Amino acid sequence: MSDHQYVTLPALDVRDWRGWLCKVCLRMPLESVPPWSWFGCAYCRNVDAWAARAFGGRRLLPLGQHSIMNGGSIPLSMPEGPGRRAKARGLMAIGEGWRQLSEWREMEAARLVDELRGRIGDLPDSVPVDQWQEWFPPGLPASADAFARLVKQQRPGLAEIDPRVVDVDWLARN
Ligand SMILES: [Zn+2]
Repeated sequence: MSDHQYVTLPALDVRDWRGWLCKVCLRMPLESVPPWSWFGCAYCRNVDAWAARAFGGRRLLPLGQHSIMNGGSIPLSMPEGPGRRAKARGLMAIGEGWRQLSEWREMEAARLVDELRGRIGDLPDSVPVDQWQEWFPPGLPASADAFARLVKQQRPGLAEIDPRVVDVDWLARN
């Protein structure tokens, strides 16, 4: 799949493809398959699920396009009441989570592109995904590192409750 895929610079889009790089680590191409697209790669989803367990949840970041993928669906049979309202608030939080995720994506993309400029100087218009991954290898360590910085920046409250969610070694241990 990645043989013919190119990452554009400095935007970090995947050229001529219905998909994107993981919006957390920006290292893995993910295909758009609405409504079941993932915004996070398998490594980032592992790290997120591992961290979410510390809070008794399935997921901390809204890494799935469909609310069911984030553990946030409202069963149609659920009666009106506080439970349903709490779930609706959860869904609104997912919207806010997506906004934060795109903010994070832009910042992390800029950081990686800056780092690359420091390493190779002038940037080409695009590079094969394999080359991009050679420069920035995907994997648990990279995902744990990105996740920890994202939480520190956007959800410092979580780290106050449980500091392990910003501990890269702990996050990469799952
Ligand atoms: Zn990722």
